Amino acid sequence: MMLQRKALAALGLLMLWQGAFEAGAAESQPAPQLVLQITVDALRGDLPLRHQRQMGRGGFRYLMEKGVYYRNALYRHANTETIVGHASLATGTVPAAHGMVGNVWFDRALGRTVYNIEDPDYVLLTAGAAVDSETEIDPTQRVAKVEGRSPRAILSSTLGDELTVATQGRAKVYGVSVKDRGAVSMAGHTGKAFWFSKATGEFVTSNYYYDRYPEWVENFNATRPAQAYAGTRWELLHDADRYLFAERDDQPFETDFPGYGRTFPHPYGAADDKYLTTRLTLGPAGDRLVLDFARALITAEGLGADAVTDYLAVSFSSNDYVAHLFGASSLEFEDNLLRLDRTLAELLEFVDQHVGLERTLIVLSADHGTPEVPGYLNEYGFSAARYFDVPSVDESPLIRALKERYGIGEALIESYDHPYIYLNDSAIREAGLSKDEVERAVSEILTGVDGIAAAVSSSALRRGEVPDSELISAIRRNFHPKRSGDIYLVFEPHVFINDFDGLTVASTHGSPWRYDAHVPVMFGGYRLRAQQISRPIAPYDIAATLAALLGIAPPSASVGTPLPEVLGR
Ligand SMILES: [Zn+2]
Repeated sequence: MMLQRKALAALGLLMLWQGAFEAGAAESQPAPQLVLQITVDALRGDLPLRHQRQMGRGGFRYLMEKGVYYRNALYRHANTETIVGHASLATGTVPAAHGMVGNVWFDRALGRTVYNIEDPDYVLLTAGAAVDSETEIDPTQRVAKVEGRSPRAILSSTLGDELTVATQGRAKVYGVSVKDRGAVSMAGHTGKAFWFSKATGEFVTSNYYYDRYPEWVENFNATRPAQAYAGTRWELLHDADRYLFAERDDQPFETDFPGYGRTFPHPYGAADDKYLTTRLTLGPAGDRLVLDFARALITAEGLGADAVTDYLAVSFSSNDYVAHLFGASSLEFEDNLLRLDRTLAELLEFVDQHVGLERTLIVLSADHGTPEVPGYLNEYGFSAARYFDVPSVDESPLIRALKERYGIGEALIESYDHPYIYLNDSAIREAGLSKDEVERAVSEILTGVDGIAAAVSSSALRRGEVPDSELISAIRRNFHPKRSGDIYLVFEPHVFINDFDGLTVASTHGSPWRYDAHVPVMFGGYRLRAQQISRPIAPYDIAATLAALLGIAPPSASVGTPLPEVLGR
């Protein structure tokens, strides 16, 4: 007995010693002083490779060629939209857990559609900076009915939150983007978020974060950074012969945004043009503004200046707006990406000077990918690619017949807030029908509609009356009982909606298909060993990897797996 206890004690000592040894080996390099998480909005996984040879050395290629580059990262949730992807990157989990099931959803308690981060309790520090309903073209932003913004609707912690907790608040945690949802999501519940207000042309925040602007933000905005672009134009970076899409400047499917046009150069507009700030976000200027603000932030707040790891998330939005307007195979997309490559290189150079890239862990990914424009695919004989008109479905013969059978004289499909259909609850109630039965009947009809791949009712999902497929799993990972709609709609590949309250765009992401779910994941800096990995991973793994590397708790609902290539260095 005595011997046994001694042996156990010795074993315990050995294990302790081994643990210390292993920890010592893993910590041969001190923890990074800064984690820089870069998100490129709508960057499909293959696109950096397509343009790699045209890029400089200090931007994307620094990460692709000198870092750990995962070429096969796929989101596993169905709704590949901006807030969903950003929240997944920040929290390392799926929308079913973090609750961001879509850019907008119908709030049954409020009886209206809400925007993901709107919050009446936390107003912006600048009055009128939220949404200018007259000029706002982002259809999801237009949904917001209140001026306030906060991360309170995000249901789990983020990596930044865990860093705050682990360091007793000493870590500095920030999120910056043109889009409010790109900044608020990444800053989490405990960090600080700043974003670009198209209404005022300034970087703004809400009183969730601050009672008043820090002085450096006031100074930054006092330079009127947006106005500096008045009267300027987005011109090609290189001579035309350096582009893959040089011959495709003017394509019939491109959006002809007023005053901006379909061909280079694209004028941003005069100082008094009410669409000036909007156009800045539709081209490389939006990313330049974010770069300038990020540099000011790093300096003013002293990010990465001491041994306590800080966290800065920078989300570049222009790539997304350019993809929506012109498509991924356009001269505009190509030029914007090459300009973003330079912007990225300048950000990394700045971080190198102020923190040192060897003391900074960089990770770049995207919130979702982007499809090819149907018109572009049609040119090559791919005729199935097309746009879909959801409102017309309610008037289709089968739905009309169903309404007749039910005795419903009004619309049965009340609204479609991508990706969910909401049925007319009051009409169903008045007709004395069971909601579940109507959901099932409508889903069956929709599944038979040309262009629709799946229409999955939430009641069937709750009861488990669904086939066991990867597509259904992706829809389930998107399902939150309080926020999801009645029927999840999936279009066939290369079929999507493109009409948003009168604004017609060239392409729309949001599907579970590969082109929307496949994104790059690149880790760099911090003396990582250059590697290219083809093994499939998920972007949820990023938060788990950062947490493991920093030795802190993963976010509360994290489902990711730490990536050994990054941890092993
Ligand atoms: Zn996005």
